[in-house]
Amino acid sequence: MTPEAITVLFLALFLLEFAVEFVLNELNIAHTRKGSSAEIPAFFDGSMTREEYAKSIDYTLARARFSRWTSIYQTLIAFWVIFGGVLPLVDRFARNLAVYFPSWSRAEGIIFCLSVGFIFGAASLPTGLYSTFVLEERFGFNKTTLAVYIADRLKGLALGLVIGVPFLFCVLWLMERAGPYWWFWVFVFIVAFQLLMVIVFPTLIAPLFNKFEPLKDGEFKQRILAMADKIGFKTGGIFTMDGSRRSAHSNAYFTGLGKAKRIVLFDTLAEQMTTDQGVAVLAHEMGHYKMKHIRRMLVLRSLFLLVGLYVLSLLVNYPPFFRAFGFDAPSNHAALVLFSLLAGPATFYLTPLINYFSRKHEYEADLFAARAVGESKPMEEALIKLTVDNLSNLTPHPWYSAYHYSHPTTAERIDAMRENR
Ligand SMILES: [Zn+2]
Repeated sequence: MTPEAITVLFLALFLLEFAVEFVLNELNIAHTRKGSSAEIPAFFDGSMTREEYAKSIDYTLARARFSRWTSIYQTLIAFWVIFGGVLPLVDRFARNLAVYFPSWSRAEGIIFCLSVGFIFGAASLPTGLYSTFVLEERFGFNKTTLAVYIADRLKGLALGLVIGVPFLFCVLWLMERAGPYWWFWVFVFIVAFQLLMVIVFPTLIAPLFNKFEPLKDGEFKQRILAMADKIGFKTGGIFTMDGSRRSAHSNAYFTGLGKAKRIVLFDTLAEQMTTDQGVAVLAHEMGHYKMKHIRRMLVLRSLFLLVGLYVLSLLVNYPPFFRAFGFDAPSNHAALVLFSLLAGPATFYLTPLINYFSRKHEYEADLFAARAVGESKPMEEALIKLTVDNLSNLTPHPWYSAYHYSHPTTAERIDAMRENR
């Protein structure tokens, strides 16, 4: 293939991704607007006021309109960086700067990768600010201050450097030194690295951003522990997190590995729910674990990574690929960055497949929770409460939800629980 043909191919792929994304969003906007004149869907009748329903539609529309503009903006930025000659410029910058770090091997490659990351990080600043301080603020979800927001970004940047520099060093070193099967060794390294992150995240990284406190003794804690015991879920502790410091959206999750798994509840969730509902939500989370959903998704992602790295190993020695994006000569760091930027339009079409599996897992975990609790009512109530409090879209366009939703809608989930009872 000539460099020109490669450029045209990727331009077309990017435009196609943009078009699919844009059309889905417009369909969803039109569909949601139609819902505004309809009655409240039957499931929510009684648990939601007319005003709350109208507000959920306003919120959905506001976010969809915002995502219309952000997708145009992000596509323009990506085009400018990838096709607009920015990458070769950054490459020259990295080469010149690396001269000042003569004792650091692979400084050039590391500076190049970090600089490209920095450009995208800086470009996401205005949309991030607008989303938090205008959009979320307007609907009463934003609880963060500008000071906390800036501190978060700076901490994220520092963390990115502390973790990113050694990570990039190892990957670039393996690409150079590990022989013809380097792509396999990079794969092994990345998987091991991810495992390490899972282990250090709850104790070293998450506390940089939030305060964690052991859940207070009481009925709620006793009930959760009894449920964990019944299910056979080993936990290293139940913690509440000050999620309300940043947002009124609520959530629960668990992190870590093996016996050190922590259950983390947002303080917002603990406040909004009754004990029965909270226990059902946690039974659902434990269900994911018991049914090995998390492990299965991890294996699936690792497979994609392995295939991707293999493809990368083919491209690394193919000069037209580099010339297509303005590089004079092939280099490992250029290959790495190009690959991560161009992977988007390729993996975009896998999104619905991954989300399909994810939704299947949600149904299974719901059923698991209903059985563990002995009835589906607390889980149904919890779902309705989460939907109403988070102003979730009650009636997304079916194509949009099939593509983008990692969780089925609340109505679908309740339907499924009732059918299977
Ligand atoms: Zn779930």
